[in-house]
Amino acid sequence: MEPIIAQYEPWNRMAEYIAYGCWALAILVVLWLLVKLATTSDPKEKYDYISRNEIKLLWIASVILIVGCCFYANANIEELNAILIFVRVFTTVSMGLIAALIVQNLLKFYYPFYIEKRLKVLRYKPRISPKTGRAMKLLSEEEEDTYLDEGMQAEENIFSTDYDVWKDEESGYIKIEKYSGHLHALECPECNYQTFKVVKEEILKTPTPAEEGELLKHYTCGYCGYKAKKTVTLKASTKFEETAATA
Ligand SMILES: [Zn+2]
Repeated sequence: MEPIIAQYEPWNRMAEYIAYGCWALAILVVLWLLVKLATTSDPKEKYDYISRNEIKLLWIASVILIVGCCFYANANIEELNAILIFVRVFTTVSMGLIAALIVQNLLKFYYPFYIEKRLKVLRYKPRISPKTGRAMKLLSEEEEDTYLDEGMQAEENIFSTDYDVWKDEESGYIKIEKYSGHLHALECPECNYQTFKVVKEEILKTPTPAEEGELLKHYTCGYCGYKAKKTVTLKASTKFEETAATA
């Protein structure tokens, strides 16, 4: 029996090392994310980093981790023939896919709740004025219009974009932050998951300097498939066509 086991020893050894390598790499990816979050102090920068990269990086780390597990599960080969190879490959691949699917669902449907909560805190965390070192004030929708040019205002109306204007009341210093609604999912009214997104926007009536326009937003839920439409009034604007053309 002894020589047969030894025959597979190089493979077993290699599979084990590949598994360790994968796990180490997965840990590095997560560490990279944590270090990046810990070292980004600007709330807006952190906000953007989380909304763009966090789920992506966690997904990459999970896949590498699962691949590592697949190798580890096959690092104990003592006997091998055509049928056993088939059985091993089949079980490994299907187990790996099931694990990946579970992680993917967690990241896609449950994790966003957690992310949204943190993003909200970051978005409304008082900004510090670089001029005076004091907390700035977030202006209301009405107040902020003074500081947004017409292009920005038109953009706020359409394309689900939001501008937040922070003002240092002592020095008058202004900080404008742009938030893209497209990256952002709402809570679905049907299934209550955070998976309700704008998929298409249609201009029903182009606003002119004298008249308001109308925009139709199409929403679709990425989880249950629920669809909805919402009409939004576009403020009268001259800059509208310019914005629509460049966006
Ligand atoms: Zn839904």
